[in-house]
Amino acid sequence: MSEHCDFSVKFWGVRGSISISDPNSIRYGGNTSCLEIRCGERLLIFDAGSGLRYLGNELVGRGEAVDADIFLTHTHYDHICGIPFFKPFFNPQNQFRLQAGHLLPEKNLRGVLCDLMTSPLFPVPLEVFQSKIEFHDFIVGDALHTGSDVVVRTASLNHPDGATGYRIEFGGRSICYLTDTEHVAGELDQTILRLIDGADMVIYDSMFTEEEYANCVGWGHSTWQAGADLCDAAGVPRFVIFHHDPDHDDDFMDGIAEAAEKRRPGTLVAQEGMVLRPGKPVWQDLDIPVSQARTVPAG
Ligand SMILES: [Zn+2]
Ligand SMILES: [Zn+2]
Repeated sequence: MSEHCDFSVKFWGVRGSISISDPNSIRYGGNTSCLEIRCGERLLIFDAGSGLRYLGNELVGRGEAVDADIFLTHTHYDHICGIPFFKPFFNPQNQFRLQAGHLLPEKNLRGVLCDLMTSPLFPVPLEVFQSKIEFHDFIVGDALHTGSDVVVRTASLNHPDGATGYRIEFGGRSICYLTDTEHVAGELDQTILRLIDGADMVIYDSMFTEEEYANCVGWGHSTWQAGADLCDAAGVPRFVIFHHDPDHDDDFMDGIAEAAEKRRPGTLVAQEGMVLRPGKPVWQDLDIPVSQARTVPAG
């Protein structure tokens, strides 16, 4: 086994703002942000949007006790709405460490999730969960060690109410996860550049096209073109377009994929069910259920 072949990311939710269920958006998927990152034996989950429910069902189906770290970019609704429906939280055998870096000093993660699960917004409180859950608020910029061989680096993103970008390092490889964030037109975000420098893969908030962005300045989101520019500047081989606008159907996303492939060959558009392994060529690391696959990019 090579040192990094057990490092992978699976996309359980790729949509921004609100989940959608629409026959014209089924190939890319309608669930909001959730990634499953496997580092050998360790399970790391990034964001808890509606995709988290499906990941939870799969974990329950395996019938094994779950021990996982869950990192939130932030607590906007589309990134936490899966939490009350994550079945592994109801099993006392399971344990989780739930972390966020955007809330201190005014608020803390446990308090925000208590507010989410409060009548009359939700019928049962956070205490309904039976698994062991530790809540941890870290200072953005901290490097977080999860186990002996995984390092998670963090940086602040440009988003209303704050958000945290992550760089996960394992076995000499790295995956960066940066959503939700807004660029400044014509500039490269130096904080992001430092975080993603020389990484193998960057998953980036590409909610808008450049044309759409002109009318959405200040909304806290970016474009795939800005993501490509950042990856060029940081020497990142694999750029993954993420946090798709709920109004962008499959045909529209195919158009983005085509334009991005021309602009930066090897760029991928995240699809629900896609599994990627950093450091491998596209034809080797792409693993999408055949029913959902667009054309597999060549080379
Ligand atoms: Zn979002
Ligand atoms: Zn947000």
